[in-house]
Order: sequence, then structure tokens, then C-alpha cells
Amino acid sequence: MDLYRLTIHEARALLEKGEISSVELTRAVLDRISAVDERVQAYLTVVADRALAQAKAADAQWVEYRRAGKGGVTPPLLGIPMAIKDEICTLGVRSTAGSKILNNFVPPYNATVMEKLNAAGAILLGKTNQDEFAMGSSTENSRYFTTRNPWDLTRVPGGSSGGSAAAVAADEALFALGTDTGGSVRQPAGLTNTVGVRPSYGRVSRYGVIAFASSLDQVGPITKDVRDAALVLRTIAGHDPREATSVAQPVPDYVAALVGAGLVPARLVPAQGDHGTQGDHKIQGDHKGSPLRGVRVGVPREYFIEGMQKGVEDAVRAAVRVLESLGATTIEVNLPHTDYALPTYYLLAPAEASANLARYDGVKYGYRAPEHANAEMWTVMKETRGEGFGAEVKRRIMLGTYALSAGYYDAYYLKAQKVRTLIKQDFDKAFETVDVIVGPTSPSVAFKIGEKVDDPLQMYLADVFTLAQSLAGIPAVSIPCGFADGLPVGLQVMARAFDETRMLQVAYAYEQATEWHARRPVL
Ligand code: GLN
Repeated sequence: MDLYRLTIHEARALLEKGEISSVELTRAVLDRISAVDERVQAYLTVVADRALAQAKAADAQWVEYRRAGKGGVTPPLLGIPMAIKDEICTLGVRSTAGSKILNNFVPPYNATVMEKLNAAGAILLGKTNQDEFAMGSSTENSRYFTTRNPWDLTRVPGGSSGGSAAAVAADEALFALGTDTGGSVRQPAGLTNTVGVRPSYGRVSRYGVIAFASSLDQVGPITKDVRDAALVLRTIAGHDPREATSVAQPVPDYVAALVGAGLVPARLVPAQGDHGTQGDHKIQGDHKGSPLRGVRVGVPREYFIEGMQKGVEDAVRAAVRVLESLGATTIEVNLPHTDYALPTYYLLAPAEASANLARYDGVKYGYRAPEHANAEMWTVMKETRGEGFGAEVKRRIMLGTYALSAGYYDAYYLKAQKVRTLIKQDFDKAFETVDVIVGPTSPSVAFKIGEKVDDPLQMYLADVFTLAQSLAGIPAVSIPCGFADGLPVGLQVMARAFDETRMLQVAYAYEQATEWHARRPVL
């Protein structure tokens, strides 16, 4: 058995019974990294020795729990190896945010999400590649190297959490964390056939997450299936007194809401011989119950636009039919301000970034331009920022500074804030009549490395379907829903703020009825 292929819940079942050890599991995944990461390039840093030491400690804990007959109450991720985006601070392990300006930054503290994962027993394998400061949709903006899509090594894995998504898709980690400001978890998940959750704004602490655009940033899991996503989200969610925008709402048991809710739908499978193309779904076995009976699913007209890839549209429309076959009622909804999400996001996110990135000055920590290390202060700052930041980051700092400057503030920043409210109101209105909204995650499948890198606007368009949810603060998940031209397509399921439970239930029902998520790239 290839242990690295396991989901979290499969691995946990084996660990619980003592059929495998965490050291075996961790070693298997580390071997997998050695075997494929030279080609995939998902990791910026691998901490093999640290991981094995952690696994050994986890095994000791397992032994103890088993001796005490307390298997069921072990920490939920005890002995499970994971990958963490380099945007997230890890105590003692270098965290660069994909930037040269943090190339020597070893955080003296853990992000709250890391504290929670540690307490849950998870094992850190390493840190994953990303677009610099999470600005991008392909990982090509990393200052180190470009991660490759495990489904086709000449294509991007999406971004900015491309390293995390590629690591999970290539079985180089059982799960990963990414960050999503305007799609950076969902879009790479969609492009790599993995599950990626963007939680409601405020659901997960941003403490210790290197800031890009603070009113939009959220941490989310990237996993091999929906059940694992529910488990990781449950682990990292919750109020954090150290983070002012984290919300004091109780965290529901997302896992119990799936497996305990009698959500055991009939199985549908893709038609025979249908490998790599979108086909009809056939129902396998008896159609027992309708798990989505009574669930109202909104389908927004604005999410099926001209210019989107035909195979993507076909896959998403087929997925909507699957939801109907599971008992859901589909209703066409309108989100009339959808077109404004992109310009709104690209004013607000750079404005916030320009403020957040002011801290990198070569004085307190991080990179300092070596030839100017002892120059006068302004020179140190200017040269450090000039060398330390890449082109896209500089572009955003300039855009954001301009949008915030006296004389332009009202015309750009303030106007964008008002449009943000209109976008949120679109969703509020739609959710008066539906429980979830579904649409594509991305307008196309994974594009070729180099294809959009010189055309920032084209790159921005890769996130055209994932920006509005971020602006509205609502949760959304991308799940595998088929293939176009042999490459994965993501279905996006959105819900009301703090209704991750409903969102995950619909995603899970769909996943249980289909086989797309079980497909893996051949490496
Ligand atoms: N592609 C978008 C951007 O470049 C979103 C990135 C993200 O979510 N971090 O800003």
C-alpha cells in the first residue's frame, strides 16, 4: 500500500488500529517528496528530520493512548504529515512569503493556526512555494521558482497557494494550508483536483499570517476530499483574542455535520471509458434517499460568461444536474455587481498591501541590500525594497499608494469600498432565496507556464470568479467536478457568512455521488 496516497481520515483509521505508525507514514511521504518534488517543485523548505522526530513523538503518544484505551479521544491529527504555505509563520522554520525580502526570516513565533495544528498533533513536513506575498494566480511570481501542475508539468498549479495545492495533488502531503485573499486557495485547488476552502472572514485567525490585504486574507485547508477539509477547518477555526477581526462564534463540528447527518447519497459514477473528458453521470446501485432534498441551490447567470472555456462550463453544468439528481432544487439567481468585483478588488487589495508592506524596510528584520547595509537610512530602505520586492509586488504598492493618496482617495479607494458593499448586498439578497450558490472556480483549466506572466490583466482574470466572495466575506469551497482537455475543473460552492456547515454538506453530498476527487495525476 502506498501510504502517501491516504486521506487524513484513512490514515487516522490505520493509526488508530496500530496498523501503521506515524513514522512509517511520514517517511513514506518524505520519500514521495524525494521522488517527485524535483519535478513538481511544491516545497521551498522540507524539514525531514524535524518531521521524523515529531512523528516519533506522535507514535509514543499513540501507544500511550492505546494502552489507556482512549483511541477515540486522541488529538484529531495526531501523526498526520502536512505542508504549510510559506505565508504562514512557523516557529524556527524559515517563512519567506515567496519573497526575497524575507529570504532569511525565521519566525520567533507560530501563527495561531500552527499552534492549533500542533495541538492537534499534525506533523510539519515543510513550507510550500507561492506567489510573492500571495500576489498572483500561478506561483510564477515566487522569487524562488515556479511550481508545476502535477497533472501537466508544463502548466501552472494556480496560485498563489500553488505549492500547497501541488503538494496535496502529488501526494507530497496528506493536507496543506493555504491563504486566500481573492481566490488563492480555491483557484489552485480547482486547477489541481483538490478540495480548497476559503472560510468566512473572521472564522480563522490571521495572527502570524504574513499580511497581504488584511480585510480579505483568510487561511484555508487544501485536502484530498471534503471530509478532510471539514476536519482541518474544525481544527484551525475559532476566536483568537490576539486577532481583532477574528469572530467569537462557536465552531460547529463540521465533520459530524457530514458523516453524522445521514448524508449517504446514492453513488453516481462517470460513464464508462470516460477518462479525461466530461461525460454523463450514471447512477450506481440503488438511489437511496435524496441527501439534498429541500436544499435550494442558486445558479448565478453572471458566472457563465463569454470567454470561459467550453469544457469548464460543461463540467459545471453537469455538476449542477448531479446536485438536482440528489434532490436539490436549483434556482437561477442574479449577482448584478459581479463585473465590478475585479476592479474593486484590484483597488482595495493593493491599497491594503501598500500599507502592510511598508514594514519591510531592511531595518528591523528580513533582507537588507548588502552593498548599502551601512548607508544612511533612506538609502538602506530604498535599495532594500528595490532589490527585495519583485515586479508584481512593486506594481501593487504603486497602485495602492496611488489609490490612497490625497486627491484620489475619494475617487478610488472610497468608491471601491462602496462598491464592495453593493457586492455584499448582491449575495445577501440571493441568500434570501437559496441556501448555497454554485458556479465555476476558474474560467479555464490550468494554463501554460509563461502564458500570462507578462500580461498582469490576463493573470488577474484567472480569479474573476473568486474575488466577489472574498469581498463579501462569505465562505466558498472548490471541489473536483470533472475534466476538460484532460485537466481538472473545480466547482465552487458558496454559502452565507458562517454557514460553512451547509457549504460543506452540499460539497460532500456531491463528492460522495461522484468519483472525480479520487483521480490522481500520474507522476
Ligand atoms: N490572484 C489574486 C491576487 O493576485 C488573489 C491572490 C490571493 O488570493 N492571495 O491578488
